[in-house]
Amino acid sequence: MSPIGDTVIRKGRKGKDFPFDNKKKVQKINVTVLTSGRWHMFLFGDTAIRKGRNKKVCETQTERIMQRIGNCTVVPLLRTASIQNACRNIQHSCKILIIGGGTGGCTMAAKFTKQYKEPKQVIVVEPSDIHYYQPLFTLIGGGIKLFKSSNRPMAQVLPRNAKWIKDSVITFQPESNNIITSNGDTIQYEIMIVAMGLQLYWDKIPGLIEGLKNPDSQICSIYGPEMVTEVFNKIKKVSNGTAVFTFPNTPVKCPGAPQKIAYIAEDYWQQKKIRDKLKVVYNTSLPDIFGVKKYADSLWAVCKKRGIIVNLQTNLLKIDPDNREAIFQNLKDPDKTFVQKYALLHVTPPMGPPSILKNHTNLTNAAGFLRVDPKTLQHEQYTNIFGIGDCTNTPNSKTMAAISSQSKVVYRNVMDYLAGKEIRSVYEGYASCPLVTGYGKCILAEFDYKLQPLETFPFDQGKEYYMMYWLKKTFFPFLYWNLMLKGNWDGPEVFRKYFNVFKRKSTESVN
Ligand SMILES: Cc1cc2nc3c(=O)[nH]c(=O)nc-3n(C[C@H](O)[C@H](O)[C@H](O)COP(=O)(O)OP(=O)(O)OC[C@H]3O[C@@H](n4cnc5c(N)ncnc54)[C@H](O)[C@@H]3O)c2cc1C
Repeated sequence: MSPIGDTVIRKGRKGKDFPFDNKKKVQKINVTVLTSGRWHMFLFGDTAIRKGRNKKVCETQTERIMQRIGNCTVVPLLRTASIQNACRNIQHSCKILIIGGGTGGCTMAAKFTKQYKEPKQVIVVEPSDIHYYQPLFTLIGGGIKLFKSSNRPMAQVLPRNAKWIKDSVITFQPESNNIITSNGDTIQYEIMIVAMGLQLYWDKIPGLIEGLKNPDSQICSIYGPEMVTEVFNKIKKVSNGTAVFTFPNTPVKCPGAPQKIAYIAEDYWQQKKIRDKLKVVYNTSLPDIFGVKKYADSLWAVCKKRGIIVNLQTNLLKIDPDNREAIFQNLKDPDKTFVQKYALLHVTPPMGPPSILKNHTNLTNAAGFLRVDPKTLQHEQYTNIFGIGDCTNTPNSKTMAAISSQSKVVYRNVMDYLAGKEIRSVYEGYASCPLVTGYGKCILAEFDYKLQPLETFPFDQGKEYYMMYWLKKTFFPFLYWNLMLKGNWDGPEVFRKYFNVFKRKSTESVN
């Protein structure tokens, strides 16, 4: 490590000297942190250095040291990535490298560490300290679940014998089978699995970020862990006017979620007996309420029965939070816009592939998604790269449920590839969406690439049931934390096959 500036204060864990009098009651000090592996060098001075990537690590370490020092005001300044890169040049190598420790990454790490038990055979690169079970965000927004049930420390969910590198990938070098992280580490791999999810582009809607930050603005979103806890508070504040729920003009994770929160909120206002004072509007950029006809028919019936207005092919362009106005584009006639006054605005932000991935055009399609074979999930150009989850170009609905089925296919195909065999396992595009339509009601949509229903249970899933609501609220979170993230859940295919035999038998006996 090389010092920056002329005042090196503390190196590693045991240093004791600080360049100021810790008996003085209050001091204002700028703190710069230089990180290298487990070691952190703290530089105190007033040289401003722009934010680096390891913000959380730096801040936690700085805070701990400042607590030990005693009374002082700290202005943490984080060091530049370029200096970090100059200081680190750690080389790692592994058999399986997984990029991202979200749903897809954790699931794959669990599967491969069962096969490769020696430490460091499986490496996961993931910058976040926290792992979220995002499907619960909808229920948190509806006041049904507490935020704490949706997340766990990353260290707890990643398998013990996987090596976690808490960093972000900034460069992919598929020709030489390695990647470079923001700290300057290089990781060489035999197989790479990309599971980087979707990036949320909040900044693409002018007025949205300011609106979300303002507790009085009545703008909210279930899509970010930082703001989901505000959604129910804002729903409760509405007493009259128009509540508007949006769906953007981009692919999104869980395409059902933007309307589920509308149904739950509408049910809340029904129960509070203020529904007649409110207009509930769902403005979606899509040409239909849902992509699968069977479930679309059911959802149209729900909206009709409950007086929810659905405006198809409308896209949120910008927000004026001060005047509580949202400006929409009419996608049927893109030059035309209209203004909607709101008492509540729930925004689903535009989403897309992570910008780092988009920058590597040799790995992606024109839209920036990882270019894999939709059946085998193997990269179309680099055969030792596989993709899983929301960051790939596969045309399934981007859901955790899809990942459960994809994980089995990726695992089998990677093992066949490593054994020099032909890869044969095929993903048929299974996805599911528990469409919660209110408190205690849910339609469990399950379908494939062809947007044909692929239902697990032996009865018509196009109807609202309490049982499906219970599955979504209680059983699926249990299944996620205890089976899926442990590599033991490959989707409901086995149950579907079993129930289908049962279904056929009962149909035969009726005939
Ligand atoms: C509100 C909401 C409701 C939902 N409801 C449902 C539902 O009811 N049913 C359902 O099945 N699904 C649902 N989903 C969708 C589901 O949560 C996602 O499809 C799933 O989590 C995607 O998993 P993933 O691994 O692809 O991405 P993620 O779980 O998002 O993980 C991606 C990871 O990659 C990491 N990463 C990003 N960039 C880098 C980098 N440069 N280097 C290293 N790591 C990086 C990120 O930090 C992140 O941890 C919902 C999602 C939301 C937001």
